[in-house]
Amino acid sequence: MLMISLCKSCRLRVLLLTLISSHLFSDTIDPIEISLDALQGGIVVGKVVPGYRLTYSDRELHISSSGTFVFGIGRDASGYAELKVFERNEAMSSKKIEIIERDYNVQYVEGVPQRTVTPTETDLAKIRRDAVLVKAARKHELLEPLFLEGFARPIQGQITGIYGSQRIYNGKPGRPHYGIDYAAPSGSKVFAPAPGIIRLSESDLFYSGGTIILDHGYGISSSFLHLSQVLVEVGDRVNFGDVIGLVGSTGRSTGPHLDWRMNWFDVRIDPEIVLDVLPRK
Ligand SMILES: [Zn+2]
Repeated sequence: MLMISLCKSCRLRVLLLTLISSHLFSDTIDPIEISLDALQGGIVVGKVVPGYRLTYSDRELHISSSGTFVFGIGRDASGYAELKVFERNEAMSSKKIEIIERDYNVQYVEGVPQRTVTPTETDLAKIRRDAVLVKAARKHELLEPLFLEGFARPIQGQITGIYGSQRIYNGKPGRPHYGIDYAAPSGSKVFAPAPGIIRLSESDLFYSGGTIILDHGYGISSSFLHLSQVLVEVGDRVNFGDVIGLVGSTGRSTGPHLDWRMNWFDVRIDPEIVLDVLPRK
């Protein structure tokens, strides 16, 4: 109504001011607090005000009582990660997080058991059975955000392998390496890097040998590979620094070391980034 009595240029100014102020206003009530870029292999931790639902990659995200949510970015993700934001009335908007690409090196690994490079038919059947166990272990949706207590390294030792490297085993290209390898004498203690619940504890998986999967909540899990001994059982609740297993060289390995991996459900993320984003409190 007021606009009718204004001259054309004044009307334009009012319109412009309205646009600017509505833009400022929408900025100040942004319900999401999140970094707008993330590295490949990264973990994204954000906050949302009450009353919103979030999905990422077609998965409903759990939101803690303090509004915290989490998701992971894969090794080969590119472009933008899109977080969908639903208001109470189901109106949808989205947040785009730019994915920063990384360069992965190539690592030649010589001397792994040849059977682990060219498995037999029997081995392939075992590999498939193992994969089913591992997949089931990572499906759990623990609703306690234990990962928020932060992470410390599960062992001290020289790092001999990093996340993302393209691996060539005995001359044959294999899958990329998704963990951090720590060289350590056989029998060295492996400590829980953060609290969690044991979802898998197997002494003899084909590739990873003695293997433990520890659930830190909201889909975040740690895996510990090549162990000579697993000292926990499925369902055990462990705390920071509890001894969960002993270093070994079981599975596709050339010598005693711990391979520590991390996931957001089945997305493999880089433990080194997790240590950085969520250090132990
Ligand atoms: Zn490894």
